[in-house]
Amino acid sequence: MNQEEFAAVCHRHALKVTPQRSEIFRQMQACRDHLSAEALYRRVRCVFPRISFDTVHRTLQTFAAVGLARVVEGTGLPRRFDVNTRRHHHFWCRHCNRLIDIPHDGLKVGRIPAVLEGRHHVASARLVLEGVCEDCLASGSKSPNPGLDGGLEL
Ligand SMILES: [Zn+2]
Ligand SMILES: [Zn+2]
Repeated sequence: MNQEEFAAVCHRHALKVTPQRSEIFRQMQACRDHLSAEALYRRVRCVFPRISFDTVHRTLQTFAAVGLARVVEGTGLPRRFDVNTRRHHHFWCRHCNRLIDIPHDGLKVGRIPAVLEGRHHVASARLVLEGVCEDCLASGSKSPNPGLDGGLEL
């Protein structure tokens, strides 16, 4: 999404396009990782030294509410935000905490579990695969938490 599209979404939701909001969105897009409010605050502060953490945090909530960003579920705290609003899944490196996007078509989501089937309406599924990324493997790092945490073994 470019700045024009960003402005259009803001306009549709009666949201003022302030320099701070634009910068927060720009930083989120520029960084290929999925930033937490704290990490984003540290970046945006370089441009707007007087911006408060609360402003950044509230802006993220607003972005999430209007569909400009979303919370990445299943990666623990602090919560991390995603500006890639296309349907996708994540690979989470437990060692360096990096989150890598996985396009939806590259992944087959399993069948709807029997406990849900026919009783509940399942609308979508988001997967978080966990492990150690190639960079961490190359540097010989081991996951600090090599257990499976109850996840499925692959
Ligand atoms: Zn890693
Ligand atoms: Zn993502």
